[in-house]
Amino acid sequence: MQAVPTGVGPRRLLGRIRDVMAGEGTAQAKLDEVVQIIAAGMVAEVCSVYILRAGEVLELFATKGLRRRAVHQTRLRVGEGLVGEIAAHAKPLALADAQSHPAFAYRPETGEDPYHSLMGVPILRSGRVAGVLVVQNKTERGYSDEEIEAMEITAMVLAELVASGDLVNPNERAPAEGNALLPIRLDGVALNGGLAMGQAVIHRPDIAIRHVVAEDPEVELKRLSDALDAVHTDLDRLFASGQLADAGEHRDVLDAYRMVAADAGWSSRIRDAIDSGLTAEAAVQQVRENIRMRMSQISDPYLRERLDDMEDVSLRLLQRLIGVVKGDADRELPPDVVVVARSMGPAELLDYDPGRLKALIMERGSTTAHVSIVARALDIPVIGQVKDVFTKVDAGDTVIVDAENRQVFVRPVEDVQQSFIDSMRLRAERRQAYSQLRDEPAVTRDGAEVRLNINAGLELDVPQVHTTGADGIGLFRTEIPFMVRAAYPDVDAQTALYSAVLDQAKGKPVVFRTLDVGGDKDLPYFESEVGENPALGWRAIRIALDRPAMLRQQVRALVRAAKGRPLAVMFPMIAEVAEFDQAREVLNMELAREKAARRKLPKTLAVGAMVEVPSLLWQLPTLAERVDFLSVGSNDLLQFLFASDRGNPRIADRYDPLSPPALKVLREVVRTADKAGVPLSLCGEMASRPLEAMALIGLGYRSLSLSATSIGPVKAMVNSLRYRPLEAYLKTILDGPDHSLRDRLKAFAQDHGVLI
Ligand code: PEP
Ligand code: MG
Repeated sequence: MQAVPTGVGPRRLLGRIRDVMAGEGTAQAKLDEVVQIIAAGMVAEVCSVYILRAGEVLELFATKGLRRRAVHQTRLRVGEGLVGEIAAHAKPLALADAQSHPAFAYRPETGEDPYHSLMGVPILRSGRVAGVLVVQNKTERGYSDEEIEAMEITAMVLAELVASGDLVNPNERAPAEGNALLPIRLDGVALNGGLAMGQAVIHRPDIAIRHVVAEDPEVELKRLSDALDAVHTDLDRLFASGQLADAGEHRDVLDAYRMVAADAGWSSRIRDAIDSGLTAEAAVQQVRENIRMRMSQISDPYLRERLDDMEDVSLRLLQRLIGVVKGDADRELPPDVVVVARSMGPAELLDYDPGRLKALIMERGSTTAHVSIVARALDIPVIGQVKDVFTKVDAGDTVIVDAENRQVFVRPVEDVQQSFIDSMRLRAERRQAYSQLRDEPAVTRDGAEVRLNINAGLELDVPQVHTTGADGIGLFRTEIPFMVRAAYPDVDAQTALYSAVLDQAKGKPVVFRTLDVGGDKDLPYFESEVGENPALGWRAIRIALDRPAMLRQQVRALVRAAKGRPLAVMFPMIAEVAEFDQAREVLNMELAREKAARRKLPKTLAVGAMVEVPSLLWQLPTLAERVDFLSVGSNDLLQFLFASDRGNPRIADRYDPLSPPALKVLREVVRTADKAGVPLSLCGEMASRPLEAMALIGLGYRSLSLSATSIGPVKAMVNSLRYRPLEAYLKTILDGPDHSLRDRLKAFAQDHGVLI
């Protein structure tokens, strides 16, 4: 391989390109000149620019070195040949021996046979590939990282030329009109419940950068540092504002986010880009585009969220640098805003006027995404993982967000809007009525008392135990606080957290479930394996027993947090009695240790197990003798029972919890628990739905744990029900061949005046 010839530094190269850009002539003429300059600057025999056109085709737009007649004639599909490869992966490629690369595609019309080496970079615009810039050399030449970076920076300038619209009409790649105005329905995942209607506001419209090449890097570095300071001040002010309560996980989230803004690696990359000749805004943009591209290839949810935060901070910086203080908030916003975003950092949501912000729709997003946590604090519905939302929703469209049913109605017809307005009004009225039930007990008309607890996972959720009038917290999912943290909380941090939960519960009982991680609930700092079947993989109690230190630390923290107060702990995913015994042993050891250290022990201790793995059903009588309580995790139990992934929307409605097999299994659990005299509860999602909760009461359940928003509706149902006739009715239908008993149960409710 030959020694690398060094061309001009990127700064001089950019300077020359800038002169061409600023001069007279058509965009095509400028592009023709620019490829000459780049070829000379990079000491390459060939420099070519391919631009992406409609139909995902890369067309050769200008070249120095290949045959002129190939210009506007040679076209490659994305993914075809090396150029197509660069576009498909949106990543640079540098090859000393290009022709031996498996993706090499020879095009005779270009005359490129004598060229051995090739280096190309994507031309990126708004996180999307707009073209490819390539250099080629006759000799087998290696390209240095600096040279690749110089090409990436040059590609940014070309991106501006492409964006000018003089080379390719910007409308060419816009989606075809026609069905654009039809009403449509989109599905997603509910990240926070609720209903709302409003006008779509597209989050983060493109920011145009006019000045790419800098006169004086010193001036740009100063601009950058001023802008960074201003962004820090903005964030401090935002987080200090009264929209959020003081404590809780959203604080942690926001602190983690602030750390991104202070990240030294990130800002030094921006400084390097300024050193190579870019203006501060172009440097931020270059690093941002780079991050966005990498982000699209990262599947790790935690890392993606970090990168989302970084994207948010970059945007703030850009807005500062080009003189727009708050791009989105400055726009004329409709009175009811439904924000449509690819993804979002938590602070961005707070930029919207809370009085207008009605809902959020995201192309990505997960329940533990930081923005979802902040959305919960703001009490707005959020739907995530809505595919193609950007191509299907236009700014200003009327949008209905129905997070209760995981769907979005875009441009709904008048009738749909009206019925939706009606149901929102009804919902508000019902909420009002439920709040009046708050201090009443949940008792059936024929005298059965039903305990209604809430499920919680964040400190933020705990006060709802009081606002809803629930009896306690029937399931505190301890993994949620772990998932939103950047580092593993040590015993002291965990003690503080559990203690805060107990403090806020003010004496109402709380059942802490030990960590249910693994599978799809990944901890950012914990190396777990995601097998082909994560739900059936190394998760929950399996990890706890294989790595007992984690469980020991957690129960130690729970014991310390309880000191002098009652403590209830339950273990998830128990598949056999031996697992419960082992976990219990760990707890006993920790208790003994605390006792030996003369620390104050919990006032009482209740240890239970989740019933959510079918194998346990056949050992349930044995288990019942050893536990203080049981709690059915119907989400998992039913997914395993029906072999039906609970997270797959395609099969979400395939099997019904109100079917004979499901209800008979649930009845069997009640019978066993009753026989052993063990308190039993059910904490899966079905307990949150009044009709399902009614069936559970008919089967004999007297304690349910549900989402806080469902306490009102479920209590109204309980207080209007007579359980005895229902019990008798269920006996007559449970052995039938039905796919579902839903309709029959609905009819029962209607006939008996049960509020469902
Ligand atoms: C369940 O499986 O029903 C349950 C309550 O636990 P999770 O949803 O956290 O798995
Ligand atoms: Mg479960």
